[in-house]
Amino acid sequence: MTTTLIRNATLVATMDDDRREIANGAILIDGSRIVSVGTTGDLVATAEADDVIDATGMVLLPGLVNTHHHFFQTLTRAMPAAQDANLFTWLRTLYPIWAGMTPEAIQVSTRVALAELLHSGCTTASDHTYIWPNGARIDDQIEAAVDLGVRFHASRGSMSVGESKGGLPPDSVVEDEAAILADSRRVIEQYHDPKPGAMIRIVLAPCSPFSVSPDLMRESVAMARAYAVHSHTHLAETLDEAYFCQATFGRSPVELCEDLDWIGEDVWHAHFVHPSDDEIIRAGESHTGAAHCPSSNMRLASGIAKVGQWQRAGMRVGLGVDGSASNDGSHLLAEARMAMLLQRVGGDPAAMSAREALWLATRGGAEVLGRDDIGSLAPGMMADLIGIRVDTLPLSGGAVHDPLAALVFCQPQNVDFSMVNGRIRVADGRIVDLDLPALVTHHNRVAVALARGELAIRTLH
Ligand SMILES: [Zn+2]
Repeated sequence: MTTTLIRNATLVATMDDDRREIANGAILIDGSRIVSVGTTGDLVATAEADDVIDATGMVLLPGLVNTHHHFFQTLTRAMPAAQDANLFTWLRTLYPIWAGMTPEAIQVSTRVALAELLHSGCTTASDHTYIWPNGARIDDQIEAAVDLGVRFHASRGSMSVGESKGGLPPDSVVEDEAAILADSRRVIEQYHDPKPGAMIRIVLAPCSPFSVSPDLMRESVAMARAYAVHSHTHLAETLDEAYFCQATFGRSPVELCEDLDWIGEDVWHAHFVHPSDDEIIRAGESHTGAAHCPSSNMRLASGIAKVGQWQRAGMRVGLGVDGSASNDGSHLLAEARMAMLLQRVGGDPAAMSAREALWLATRGGAEVLGRDDIGSLAPGMMADLIGIRVDTLPLSGGAVHDPLAALVFCQPQNVDFSMVNGRIRVADGRIVDLDLPALVTHHNRVAVALARGELAIRTLH
């Protein structure tokens, strides 16, 4: 195993149980794991390393953890017809375009989203793709994630209730439920790695309780539990959804999920903007998780999630940038800043601190994904970490007072250094081994063809 010593960091923000912040810090890594964390003086005196990395001028943090995304939507950012629409109108506008995606579209959009995430400090990403037209498969995403070296929780998402059955999506983009379950089983057996340090895990993720049948919701979570994989869906995002659920099922979205057994330590919901106070208490008691997506909630005018109330109730809470058609970016550090600012809009300037926002982006996200091997810098944890220079123009006059808080209060920066599983992925601000201009050119070409309806290679099933 190769040992690496990263030293001379302005600050190491460990996000460990004591929330230690170490000035002039250092981290010793052996292979894919962290061996020790301390001051540069202590580690240089006690440890010898094969490689030494100088982190002068940088704050080091655990790699950020993204808990909700739809990578494919990078192809449909800022679409004019969906710019000023609420969720349901936005979906109806975009579904027919997404119906034309191909395996190439899934691959190139996954690479773009993961590249953006890496630049923004993310080292573990969860994606929720729920539309698999024209032969697209989760395999296309996993291949891209392995290539980029990001730790990846891939959701086998799904939709099965189309317009003809009273659902929202057009019939052309929904799948047969037996086929969804069969493919879910296939991808778990082929890819899910339950071991500590896993680079790939599978999640089962029907898009929402109103885009699949109650039977599929039940069977999906039962299959997930049989394999000990986690389950994820959108829940209580908008008031429109609450009205729809009341009219269709005679209960609230959260009550519906409780009836379907979609609660617990192996379940997390995206958004959770409109639960009742009692529903938040029950979600806390069951230790259900939630992905807070502040930019998307603002973009679609969905509302302000009661994040502090979730935490006090005992819910697991992480951050998500959400899909790139409702953000329309994948900058996870910027999302931490949005989370901090949005919680204050209600009138309390102390509603969320910069450190709390970073905690949600690291430890919180790890807990939401069910991982105790990432999210902090401590002996035995996986070597997922980022470095951000603080001797730069946007942080000038800020980091000298509080280098950690300045990362959130000042304009969010891209990382200068990133390591995932002990492997350097970003050096000097650039992703290692990636031709970024070529990727952007390819992605734009696919995005234009998709919008023109020229991409699909064969008729939809
Ligand atoms: Zn979403």
